[in-house]
Amino acid sequence: MEQLNMRARLAELMASMECRRVDAEAAHAARMAALPPGTCQLCYGTRRDRESGPCRVCDPPLVCAAGVPAEFQRSRLSNWETNADTAAVHAKASAFLSGTRDLFITGGVGAGKTRLACAIANDAAIARLSARFVRVPMVLHQLQPGRSAEEVSALERQLFSAPLLVLDDIGAERDVATDYTRRTLLMIYEERWDRGHRTILTSNKTLSQLAEMQDDDRLVSRLAGRADVVTVTAPDQRLLRRG
Ligand SMILES: [Zn+2]
Repeated sequence: MEQLNMRARLAELMASMECRRVDAEAAHAARMAALPPGTCQLCYGTRRDRESGPCRVCDPPLVCAAGVPAEFQRSRLSNWETNADTAAVHAKASAFLSGTRDLFITGGVGAGKTRLACAIANDAAIARLSARFVRVPMVLHQLQPGRSAEEVSALERQLFSAPLLVLDDIGAERDVATDYTRRTLLMIYEERWDRGHRTILTSNKTLSQLAEMQDDDRLVSRLAGRADVVTVTAPDQRLLRRG
């Protein structure tokens, strides 16, 4: 008797679920029929999903490298503007991901070094290679003695373990690098090299200017051996935009 009741209740439940499914399908069809052809079937053109987040069909989540500034999150090598002067730079940058060497991008302030580095890192992220972007002055600030051990080791983990890391704006300090700066940068670069990870560095200094600033050529001599150098010579985009 008990078992019979159970079976009847189960049948009832199944039937009501089936009814609800048919109702939902009919409501969806009616709603779509009232909208212009080609309207998104998921959000009905509202661009929001039911939890009022962005519709995943109309606004698919942006894939970019971790830490990339908002301004460069849509940068890709495919949308990096090239002309006859920059074609060689673009070719070298495009060859980077399939290569094994590091990359040192040098050029004047605002020439587009950071944009180029972000474009490569974003392309890597799209190809499912975990990539991270950091600004060197910020990293030096965050690793300063006196910071909590947890903060420092969390940041070091990120810096050491990212298969691809962009160290943006190395040599930005105004004066000769301090001993702390030199040791920290060398430690990060060496640890990554030992782990077989690749690094892109950007600087408005050339390697020889950097060696002078560092007053110690250990980092620069390693870079010279392990990195391809590209020089970005585009006119200052920020100044052009202002003018
Ligand atoms: Zn949609």
